[in-house]
Amino acid sequence: MEVRLKRRTEAFRKLERYTPQALEKYSDWVRSTEPQEKLLETIYNCEFLGFLDSECRKVGCLLHPCRHDGRDLRGCSFYGAELCDGHLCLSYQKLTREEKWAVILSLEDWYLYGICITDIDLVKSFFSLAAERIGAGPSLSVISRPPVRRAVKDFLSLKVSWPYRTDDEGRFGKYCLAEDEYREARIPYEGIGCRKSRYDAIFLSLASEFSSAEDLRAAERLIERKIAVFARSCEGDVGPDNAKEEARGEEFVKDV
Ligand code: SF4
Repeated sequence: MEVRLKRRTEAFRKLERYTPQALEKYSDWVRSTEPQEKLLETIYNCEFLGFLDSECRKVGCLLHPCRHDGRDLRGCSFYGAELCDGHLCLSYQKLTREEKWAVILSLEDWYLYGICITDIDLVKSFFSLAAERIGAGPSLSVISRPPVRRAVKDFLSLKVSWPYRTDDEGRFGKYCLAEDEYREARIPYEGIGCRKSRYDAIFLSLASEFSSAEDLRAAERLIERKIAVFARSCEGDVGPDNAKEEARGEEFVKDV
């Protein structure tokens, strides 16, 4: 994915002028030289997605007006300028300000950020289970603390390091994908002689598969520990080493 995005970005930057003809040529080039297999046939994969910065750390729209002195080039895209401009993902509406900022402040890796910020169940379940322990959801100022951000990152990193992840390539988070259809997965707890776990939503988001009750209990303990560390970090004092970083974090979120 990274190689593909870098290749696109380089080619896009080399265009001499961003005329409709040049953009169409670029679009044809991407579509004719990249593999076209997709996880879900009905979702269009836009060829104008690329890296926005020279360090290749931020992924976004290469046609966006903020990159072209206010000129909106998205009229040349599959969806068109109006749809691209008006569409906001479900997480934008469903996640609270604190939940969004917890993900934004904790993750620097664009890939991990992308698969976590769009996983509403994962983020919401984590926050509500933590709030049960703390007694309330953490504020923005608490979320900006380095130990808290580290604990969020540690939990969300399970998205890529989860040891109970299924090998099924058609699974994407809680969804089972097949050509142009998708359905929500379910974990067959009865098959391993267990009742539905209180961490079911998290397990589904992590595309889990358990072969025994022992596996399930070990997975529950793993999640419990991550949530406990997060809860403690929210309640804990900020050490002198972290004070400067915390001040920077608070500064960052104070106008949000
Ligand atoms: S905003 Fe539109 S043109 Fe830009 S990457 Fe997304 S779908 Fe493509």
